[in-house]
Amino acid sequence: MPIRPEMRNRYPEDWALRSRFVRFYRAGNRCEWCGAENYKPHPVTGSKVILTVAHVYDDRPEAAGLLNLAALCQRCHNRHDAAARRRRRRERLANESGQGSLPFVEG
Ligand SMILES: [Zn+2]
Repeated sequence: MPIRPEMRNRYPEDWALRSRFVRFYRAGNRCEWCGAENYKPHPVTGSKVILTVAHVYDDRPEAAGLLNLAALCQRCHNRHDAAARRRRRRERLANESGQGSLPFVEG
């Protein structure tokens, strides 16, 4: 997913270098989850693979440690992002319904 302009200042200054390192050197130009090769047709979807870098465990842009980043094809990145959206939605609904983890105040 492209970086939204309003989020760009939350990424580290060397984001482009980190992104290139993860995609081209560490991942060897393949999706780190399914192995699909960059710039080739995806073995499942048939669409051209363009590797992007995903935040895996912590989706805040500034959480750019290399262990939190993965080079992913569109299919894996979309699945990962969809799961994160579902998780955030569950948390939001839980908070709105009063079932969230609000601090208990005595009195
Ligand atoms: Zn993949």
